[in-house]
Amino acid sequence: MNVSSVLNAQAFRRSLQRWYRRHKRDLPWRQTHDPYAILVSELMLQQTQVATVIPYYNKWLRRFPDFATLAQARESDVLHAWQGLGYYNRARNLQATAKLVQDRHGGIFSRDVATMQMLPGVGRYTANAVASFAFDQPVPIVEANIARVMARLFNERRPIDSTRGQKNIWQHAADILPSRHSAGHNSALMDLGALVCTSRKPKCGICPVNKFCRATNPECLPVKRKRPKIRRLIEMHSLVVRRSRILLQQSSKRWHGMWILPPLKLDSFKRSSLRSPAIHTATFPFTHHHVTLKVFAESARKASNRSERWFPIREVDSIPIPSPHRRAIEQLLTNA
Ligand code: SF4
Repeated sequence: MNVSSVLNAQAFRRSLQRWYRRHKRDLPWRQTHDPYAILVSELMLQQTQVATVIPYYNKWLRRFPDFATLAQARESDVLHAWQGLGYYNRARNLQATAKLVQDRHGGIFSRDVATMQMLPGVGRYTANAVASFAFDQPVPIVEANIARVMARLFNERRPIDSTRGQKNIWQHAADILPSRHSAGHNSALMDLGALVCTSRKPKCGICPVNKFCRATNPECLPVKRKRPKIRRLIEMHSLVVRRSRILLQQSSKRWHGMWILPPLKLDSFKRSSLRSPAIHTATFPFTHHHVTLKVFAESARKASNRSERWFPIREVDSIPIPSPHRRAIEQLLTNA
């Protein structure tokens, strides 16, 4: 079903823009058309709240102002700058993209959406967002806020995370897209979702596009498929400190390339620490897992393989360490 049979797209856009001019959020990545800065913001915003991203974004651009600087940076510095945002593959992909832009494209970021989608970690959404916000190309974008607005506006009952539901949502977003000034239009839809058409208690009474909306029960939209069950994991690690140095291990798994407290060796744990309680216990979510981190003091342990290294405690701040392990280290060293 085309939008023209549902609502007057032009009148809809006029109402939306009138509201947006008065209520738009002042976000740092809206002050620029630099594709690099916009790509940085888009990757940071995946799975992360706007308020969390703003200080990281500003700091990142001061440290790595362009593709060339990022391409030449050490991976440990890149991961350190990303530390706290989680999902570190985004940082690695950003640096891999910077290297490709420098090495294969002569430092020029392509305006072509299909070419952008060949870059590491850049899918349809991210490519369209850069095309719209940096180059004002008439392409739709669908992130969480816009998906919710589209589902309600068009009373879309199919799960938005199903193939068919996704297709419909993107089609709705394309149907109401203007041929010019897509950046302002897409930003306005995002802000409408963030400020008015919120996931809980949408403010339909003050909604600028209320008269175009077909939602019969907006709070029940969008429909999503059943989530996979959350699995519980217990992870046991060691705190080994000797002569103002701490033993850390470079992760080859979940936090690839970052430094973590070394996993507890169960044989030595059984021998010497079985009766000692954990000196630190904390929980954190990770994708579909609920992880309990338990840290045990180990005094006799040595660096046992190439991935383990002693670091002076005063240098810990400058090492890329994932947040749950950093919090444990900071708390335990402070207490010590
Ligand atoms: Fe969302 Fe309500 Fe506005 Fe519809 S009328 S777009 S449900 S806030």
